[in-house]
Amino acid sequence: MLETSPDEEVDLLVFGAGAGGMTAALVGALEGLQTTLCEKTGMVGGITSTSGGTTWVPGTSQSLRAGVPDTTEKARQFLDSVIGSRGGEAQRDAFLTAGPQAIDYLEARTEVKFAAAVAHPDYLKNHPGAAFGGRALGPLTFDGRRLGADFDRVRPPRPEFLVLGGMMVTRADIPFLVSPFKSFANIRHVMKLLIRHGMDRLRHRRGTNLVMGNALVARLLYSLRKKQVPILFDTALAELLREQGRVVGAVVEGPGGRRKIRARRGVVLATGGLAWNKELREQLFPAPARLRSLAPEGNTGDGIAAAMRSGAGLDDKLDSAGLWMPCSILKRPDGTSSVYPHIILDRSKPGLIAVNASGRRFVNESDSYHDFVMAMLRANETVPSVPAHLICDRSFIRDYGIGLVHPGTRNLRSFIEAGYLIEAPSLRELAGKIGVAADAFEQTVARHNEYASSGVDEEFGRGTSDLNRINGDPTNHPNPCMRPIGPGPFYAVAVWPADLATSAGLQGDGDGRVLSPDGEAIPGLYACGNDLASIFRGTYPGPGTTLGPALVFGWRVAMHAAKASKAGALPLDPARDRVPGPPILKE
Ligand SMILES: Cc1cc2nc3c(=O)[nH]c(=O)nc-3n(C[C@H](O)[C@H](O)[C@H](O)COP(=O)(O)OP(=O)(O)OC[C@H]3O[C@@H](n4cnc5c(N)ncnc54)[C@H](O)[C@@H]3O)c2cc1C
Repeated sequence: MLETSPDEEVDLLVFGAGAGGMTAALVGALEGLQTTLCEKTGMVGGITSTSGGTTWVPGTSQSLRAGVPDTTEKARQFLDSVIGSRGGEAQRDAFLTAGPQAIDYLEARTEVKFAAAVAHPDYLKNHPGAAFGGRALGPLTFDGRRLGADFDRVRPPRPEFLVLGGMMVTRADIPFLVSPFKSFANIRHVMKLLIRHGMDRLRHRRGTNLVMGNALVARLLYSLRKKQVPILFDTALAELLREQGRVVGAVVEGPGGRRKIRARRGVVLATGGLAWNKELREQLFPAPARLRSLAPEGNTGDGIAAAMRSGAGLDDKLDSAGLWMPCSILKRPDGTSSVYPHIILDRSKPGLIAVNASGRRFVNESDSYHDFVMAMLRANETVPSVPAHLICDRSFIRDYGIGLVHPGTRNLRSFIEAGYLIEAPSLRELAGKIGVAADAFEQTVARHNEYASSGVDEEFGRGTSDLNRINGDPTNHPNPCMRPIGPGPFYAVAVWPADLATSAGLQGDGDGRVLSPDGEAIPGLYACGNDLASIFRGTYPGPGTTLGPALVFGWRVAMHAAKASKAGALPLDPARDRVPGPPILKE
């Protein structure tokens, strides 16, 4: 039953508290709009909080500050080369133009602050304008204790990436943790981490030294609270309200049932994309990639579905409807599963290859997670390649670890018994266990070992891009991504595709206004984050491919809604004090 009157009324109504929605709500409030943020679950963060937090924005003042100046012109050249004329030009232009401005705005007016990475190359080589550093922004570490009770409102990272019962670590911490006694500096670094974590655990369920995506979300939440933006938890978008062609608000489903909230300036959809929307998955994803997603279960495509019911167009003419990571799966004794995304820590290191059922390689294993899976899906059209198997020897596990097996792990028994790690004394026996053609498999490893000795991968060019080399092992020569595999025992881990984000989404313009299938803007309706189709058209050009646009379009939609001419927008309430009152926290 809908309550009829009086309807609540705000200027800007935002759905989804991930990177996109939190940015839109924050900027809307900063621009003087009375803004309410509705979040379906009891926590903010969505996929963003489980992410690396890397945000791809070219040409920022942060890159200049880091000593790796970059220009939007170079980035435009790069994107033109990667994407060509496959659509989205106006949106990419809007992104490139607004990007540095949006990041500076956030840095100056909120706690959302970044540092540009000096060495974090674009993912695609041989394109003019590609950068080695400066474009990937990392959110600064955040002390979760500053949030007080709100710390529990931040969705935790994936458990697979936590150590010691809830401690977040960065890639930079790993060498210290793997060899804690190697030097005094290592001991000191590890002690510092452990003491802080020990203190945290006396008071909190997990560590409060927040990094990566968790730091980004915590910074956004802290800023929203400071600006006193109301956040309605457990409150989901159910339907959009449309009057005379304009979206004027929404029906929300909250703890007290269904009610209407009207929005004078606009409704922003940022519900995280179509990840767990069964119908859209079936319609858009290749069959072998439909089963697994890395998104939280709350991301059921509500924003996209509601907009389509209100006349919005779905933009699905992309290279790929999903952006992917290869994932291995450990079945726990209690029947639940642990899904591990193989992002950078193992695939690119020397002494590992990936094979499909033919016993042959099908990809440059050191390429980006998205390109790895794209190759896997392509290969699967002719040879069973889902799952594929990552192959290595014992020394590889000692030095680098594989998936959930951390480097240096001495006892592999539990992983073998769980069926996660498949072990065999010889390549032929391993081939039998994982169901690949044995002769070809032996030849593949022999050929790979020759390439490792010469340093030249004649089949896939492994180690020839900045991305490959930076994720390899610089102490390994002649190629940081290749060393001979063997002697046995040998190991295999199966990997399947899972979406880290969806790239098909609502058709939009350069201000994030949602368009009808024939390209007309639907007044009052905006989208950002994964609800908006990817401006990179299903390619994955660099680190931070989804968060960069999520933040920049979060900024753009709010700025557009704030500046929308009175003729095109419903009038603001003249009687209302423009300074927001105390937060109304409805839970
Ligand atoms: C392991 C991993 C690492 C990653 N690393 C990176 C990275 O470093 N850089 C990068 O660019 N990308 C990365 N990604 C992808 C990135 O995290 C996502 O693309 C991005 O966070 C999506 O942001 P969003 O705001 O669209 O959605 P989300 O962050 O998922 O937020 C959506 C929110 O909407 C809520 N919601 C859903 N339905 C409703 C409804 N009906 N009403 C109200 N609220 C609703 C959800 O509960 C959720 O809180 C990574 C992904 C994974 C899995």
